[in-house]
Amino acid sequence: MMKLNLLTPVKRRWLSILTALSMSVSALFYVTGCIGDNVLTTPITVTDYKLNTYVRIYSYSNVRKEILTDALKLCDTYEHIFSRTLASSELYKVNHKETNIISRELATLINIGLEYGEISNGAFDITIGSVSSLWDFTSETPRVPDDNKIKQALSFVDYTQVHLTENSDGTYTIDMPEGTCLDLGAIAKGYIADRIKDYLQEHNVSRGIINLGGNVLCIGQKKNDTNFSIGVKQPFAQDGSSLMETLSINDSSVVSSGTYERYFYENDKFYHHILNPSTGYPYDNELWDVTILSSDSTTGDCLSTVCFVLGLDKGMNLIESYEGVEAIFMSNDGTKYYSSGADKYIFRQ
Ligand code: AMP
Ligand code: MG
Repeated sequence: MMKLNLLTPVKRRWLSILTALSMSVSALFYVTGCIGDNVLTTPITVTDYKLNTYVRIYSYSNVRKEILTDALKLCDTYEHIFSRTLASSELYKVNHKETNIISRELATLINIGLEYGEISNGAFDITIGSVSSLWDFTSETPRVPDDNKIKQALSFVDYTQVHLTENSDGTYTIDMPEGTCLDLGAIAKGYIADRIKDYLQEHNVSRGIINLGGNVLCIGQKKNDTNFSIGVKQPFAQDGSSLMETLSINDSSVVSSGTYERYFYENDKFYHHILNPSTGYPYDNELWDVTILSSDSTTGDCLSTVCFVLGLDKGMNLIESYEGVEAIFMSNDGTKYYSSGADKYIFRQ
């Protein structure tokens, strides 16, 4: 308890999600060893602190541990493409006008971000970087930025001003106004989880879990007649391990976005990390959490943030328009709202 309280809100959150995940997974272990077809009863695991979060990979397929270690290294590869803050990353160079020629992979993720900008009518906007870089939610002593600076930064937020053109050699040229700063923080972890899954599947992992902080992506089923149990943390739980839901998942992604992920108080006012592109301040929409269930994690990560910014009514309508995507919203009084097909994923004893 004491130790948990000494952690930053970010570390506290990831630790509790990991705890929740390992609790729900380990509760089902009784015997070790193989149960046929290369299926393990106790998974091989690797863990590290990457992408500013705790990353853990589990394999229930009997493969060499190096496969998992190599999969973990993909976090570094992608951080060097998508990070807004890492000075050596491709995105950093774009934001600092060191280049306007970008890789297909960076262009792909930017393009996905721009599409969700359209879908949300600008409530979700990857050009939020000029504003989000003023807010430092990971600092030990976070502060509300100067209001004039926020107003100035807002003039650079407009996803419709970003244009990509494909070049003959497969790269892309990005065109955006001076001062524009892209922030892919809402979508990169989902994309990276999907690429890690591809890698693991290519290396014979047919059963496993990738947990990039709150982005949980399952590969296959735990064993032939048993799904994975994934615990979704109760927002702001004091004990760090209470769950708002336990989900029974097979080959799918579970991603949460919420105010409890990164936040601080100043003068008794609550500030969290999902920012309104019209004001430059955190959204105030009475939601604590949006959890998305989808087949791939890129979609889950995008939609969890997009639904958060749209709020309960518009967000739920958006989810209902997608085939095979479900959502659980939790409002700031603790009430849960489920999309029409979510019930079949809820784990009931
Ligand atoms: P997530 O935890 O996936 O919901 O993403 C939150 C992150 O998205 C923040 O830490 C910012 O990097 C970024 N972000 C904040 N506000 C917005 C917004 N309105 N549109 C797009 N990205 C945002
Ligand atoms: Mg997201």
